Amino acid sequence: MAVFVYKFGGTSVDSVERIKAVAEKIKQARDQGDDIVAVVSAMSGETNRLTSLAKEMQQQQPIDREMDVLLSTGEQVTISLLSMALIDLGCPACSYTGGQVRILTDSMHTKARIREIDDKNIKADLGKGNVVVVAGFQGIDDKGNITTLGRGGSDTTAVALAVALKADECHIYTDVDGVYTTDPRVEPKARRLEKITFEEMLEMASLGSKVLQIRAVEFAGKYNVALRVLSSFKEGGGTLITYEESQMERALVSAIAFNRDEAKLTITGVPDLPGVASKILCPIADKNIEVDMIIQNIAADSTTDFTFTVHRNDYQKSKEVLKQVCRDLGAKQVTGDDSIVKISIVGVGMRSHAGIASNMFKVLADEGINIRMISTSEIKISVVVDEKYLELSVRALHEAFGLEKENV
Ligand code: ADP
Ligand code: ASP
Ligand code: MG
Repeated sequence: MAVFVYKFGGTSVDSVERIKAVAEKIKQARDQGDDIVAVVSAMSGETNRLTSLAKEMQQQQPIDREMDVLLSTGEQVTISLLSMALIDLGCPACSYTGGQVRILTDSMHTKARIREIDDKNIKADLGKGNVVVVAGFQGIDDKGNITTLGRGGSDTTAVALAVALKADECHIYTDVDGVYTTDPRVEPKARRLEKITFEEMLEMASLGSKVLQIRAVEFAGKYNVALRVLSSFKEGGGTLITYEESQMERALVSAIAFNRDEAKLTITGVPDLPGVASKILCPIADKNIEVDMIIQNIAADSTTDFTFTVHRNDYQKSKEVLKQVCRDLGAKQVTGDDSIVKISIVGVGMRSHAGIASNMFKVLADEGINIRMISTSEIKISVVVDEKYLELSVRALHEAFGLEKENV
């Protein structure tokens, strides 16, 4: 008898009908004799709704501990409803919040990390023939406070449970039938991939593809969990995330990712002296703001211009910090832009091939798109462009790198 962890995202549980359909799917698997642990998200839009309520209540940044108490309620609704639907179908089920399972996390409210999972209750329930329904996205710290795992965190709950239970497979059921060459909402010609490597999936997740939370991919890669992304609504094998590279090595570029959540800041005319980069970035880090791309340019007059990107939510805060840094360092001025996007091409095949970057830049130039920043690593090239060029850039690159065609 196999053990499966099935995770159902927000759109898969956003109405009574859909929850009933999810229950049917679980029952079918159960009828074949498999043990099922189902992890569910809150109904689609619910976490956003709760976040807005908190912001209305507290104009200042809401207190993180209370935020987690609030946000965790979304998933509590869906676990109970799904368990009811299962019981109605004659399929015994029992729901658990993260705290009831004892999904132990650190105390970093709103972005906690899982430390340990107590599998005792779940195993006992499975042993009794129950389907176990677990709330995604939440845990409990060692003092008993409710914590949440960051947006999209139910994916990580599912993978972590699969590791703890030594499950045979972890299925992420969502509103697309797999991982595509790019977000099919932006490029309808995007093609579903049969397989993708952990390495590429990790890059895609970190570069903005929200189909899987980055920590879920990290976890699955580390413990070699058989991870699959599939549709909740239609049949099919979905996409397997795997260590095998043979098929994909033939493609130079496997996928395109983009991130709409970035903003860019520049401080110009900074005296070019040792320690300047740390004097700019330390005050940003002190405010708990994460920096993504960084570029420094030295001008002829021995001053330097320093540009970096942050999450759009941190744009105003970063600008204020940077204005103070500008005064302290005697720099010229601070400028910024929060209507930019980062677009990245990803592929393990890039390692062994030259000329991909220049090809990418030419494609964008031919469309009259100005590149504002560039960064590269072994298996990805990222550019920052104006937000209005997102669709055009993604579609032009998708076509130029032949992503709609099978690479076999
Ligand atoms: P869920 O609520 O089920 O967790 P998400 O919205 O988090 O679903 O993730 C699924 C969405 O990810 C899709 O609807 C799609 O728009 C988006 N997405 C972004 N990049 C990709 C990609 N490369 N392949 C498939 N989906 C992608
Ligand atoms: N409900 C949470 C969110 O919307 C967690 C998840 O869906 O994975 O981010
Ligand atoms: Mg998600």
